[in-house]
Amino acid sequence: MYENKLKTLILVGGGHAHLYLIKQMISDKLKGYRTVLISSESKQYYSGMASGYIEGTYTEKDFTVDLPRICSKSAVIFIKDTVILINPAAKTLETASGEIYKFDILSVDTGSDISGSQIHGARDFAHLIKPLSNLKIIKKILIDAPVDLYNVVVVGAGAAGVEIALAIRALGIKENKKYSISIVNSNSDILKGYAKGVEHKTVDLFKRNEIKLIINQRANLIEKNYILMQSGFKIKYDLLLLATGSLSHPLYRESGFCVDDKGYMVVNDYLQNIEFPYILGAGDCIKFENYDYVKKVGVYAIREAPILWKNIKHIVDNEELEKYVPQKNYLSIISLGNKTAIASYKKLFKTGRISWYVKDWIDRTFIKQYH
Ligand SMILES: Cc1cc2nc3c(=O)[nH]c(=O)nc-3n(C[C@H](O)[C@H](O)[C@H](O)COP(=O)(O)OP(=O)(O)OC[C@H]3O[C@@H](n4cnc5c(N)ncnc54)[C@H](O)[C@@H]3O)c2cc1C
Repeated sequence: MYENKLKTLILVGGGHAHLYLIKQMISDKLKGYRTVLISSESKQYYSGMASGYIEGTYTEKDFTVDLPRICSKSAVIFIKDTVILINPAAKTLETASGEIYKFDILSVDTGSDISGSQIHGARDFAHLIKPLSNLKIIKKILIDAPVDLYNVVVVGAGAAGVEIALAIRALGIKENKKYSISIVNSNSDILKGYAKGVEHKTVDLFKRNEIKLIINQRANLIEKNYILMQSGFKIKYDLLLLATGSLSHPLYRESGFCVDDKGYMVVNDYLQNIEFPYILGAGDCIKFENYDYVKKVGVYAIREAPILWKNIKHIVDNEELEKYVPQKNYLSIISLGNKTAIASYKKLFKTGRISWYVKDWIDRTFIKQYH
């Protein structure tokens, strides 16, 4: 498959941390190694700008990275395929197209799936907001929707669900479409993990935007035009979006790795698989054996990236590895539509245009590095 005697580093998934690694490789090479990126899609979508894309603030190009293009700049071999199984002992992996690739070092940054995908009927009738490439179809359906009342139901009132529901309202205003929007949550915790003040502001905004909030209803079954909740309650929809919490792709469990209860690969403080030190990982797809508080947000994937890169280099050069200590708190900015946002840090928060401009600046600065 490969020519010459070089060893091979395989990167699986073009997530945030791997984008950083690929960029580093423009000027900094791994001695004696070739690097291969295997990713399911040629484009990497940046979630920070996802709701802005739905609402029409950003184009698809604005929030995507062209993976073959950045790989060619760094002499990284790009392969569009999905890894379905890893054999850690043989140091090989298998892809959906049936290819087997051999590696010496492996790094995984494959993100996460939507937990709601497990609900019976979800993959037949609902639209999952992940992978983010799904947003293109979702946006088209919304724009093409009949002008009369179109019933959109978003399941999941975490940050992603809140951003998407409010972005749809903003899109409706721009497109002159009357969407009836509901957001459904399995419990009463809107924006779980955020300060109460952030939750209250958001609920207030739902009222002002005529977004119906339905709490303490857990979806049990999805049929063509309605969701059946565990309580027996039925919710009708024309378009159903699932923005429920995250769950690992089955890859790690099926490869026999040590995983947590949601199937994420368990790593040590050096971002290494706890059983196979030549397999590393970053972002949503990992679970730290020593830190329980790390959330599935891009912030961590970005912060892990420099340590991941250094540790891969240290393995190559046979040097001591560096520890990564995840931060407990971070600035979070949730887009509220129409160029407004709510920025929060611990219990402090600020709503309005300034928060949105800060978010816009952070997001554009991030994506610009890879354009
Ligand atoms: C609507 C929305 C808004 C969000 N907003 C924010 C925000 O503002 N700030 C924030 O910090 N977080 C946000 N998040 C969370 C954030 O998206 C994730 O935490 C983040 O994307 C995780 O990054 P990652 O690098 O782990 O993987 P990802 O960015 O998900 O990338 C993983 C890549 O791996 C590829 N892949 C997956 N499986 C395989 C496989 N088996 N083989 C090959 N390739 C594979 C995928 O195609 C994908 O390109 C948001 C999430 C959503 C859904």
